Amino acid sequence: MDIIDSHAHLDHLDNLEDALDAAYQAGVSAIMAPGVDLTANQKLLEIKKRIIAPKIYVGLGIHPGDIKTAEIDQTIDFIQQNIEEALAIGEIGLDFWYKWVRKDKEKKDEQRNVFQRQLEIAREHDLPVIIHSRGCWQECFDTTKTLGITKAVFHWYSGPVDVLDKILAAGYFVSATPSLACSPQAQDAIRHAPIEQTLIETDSPVYYKTEDGEGGFKSQPKDVLKTLSLYAGLKGMDSEKAVDILNNNARRLFGIV
Ligand SMILES: [Zn+2]
Repeated sequence: MDIIDSHAHLDHLDNLEDALDAAYQAGVSAIMAPGVDLTANQKLLEIKKRIIAPKIYVGLGIHPGDIKTAEIDQTIDFIQQNIEEALAIGEIGLDFWYKWVRKDKEKKDEQRNVFQRQLEIAREHDLPVIIHSRGCWQECFDTTKTLGITKAVFHWYSGPVDVLDKILAAGYFVSATPSLACSPQAQDAIRHAPIEQTLIETDSPVYYKTEDGEGGFKSQPKDVLKTLSLYAGLKGMDSEKAVDILNNNARRLFGIV
């Protein structure tokens, strides 16, 4: 099987070489690795250069949860200087999930500003964006649409269905993670979204609970096979058929040839 993990934080993985070997053995042919801060972006470009299989593609970005105020300008400069190396701008977005953030207007405005600056870079270079929208789905959608972005994935979408409908109507994608095993919100979204606008991923090394709710595991790119099997199960589709379409979606969005 040839399968693409459309979102894995390779710079955060322990034993990266082993994880990539295991992924390749399992059939993972390509991985999109989004950056979250300056160090991650730098590491990912080095990993992309060094690793031959699976094929590594990189997104450059500042994650809303990883903003270091003193580093913002330097990171934006780094992204612009290395833009030719990136197939996407990401992981970017807003995260107003925690109460302490919701109460902090300055933090929220800083997130908004960093998000917008990066959307502008994506638009200028006609690059797709990888969006983190937890707890802030409507505003993330509005900002993305208003800034004229045409290619986006709302990664691990688990928000309300009315916002999802707008995301789909705008031609954007959503992605599924191994959270499909036990998150009713993720299940509802993925059930609702057509396969033509869906990607699969792992968000490695995120820790997921297993279906029985008792166990769990720290994910690696090979676990995109779990996402695929959960996805196929949820959609009542054959995995082989589903994976062809899902891989094509990733290739189409990121311009992978
Ligand atoms: Zn992520």
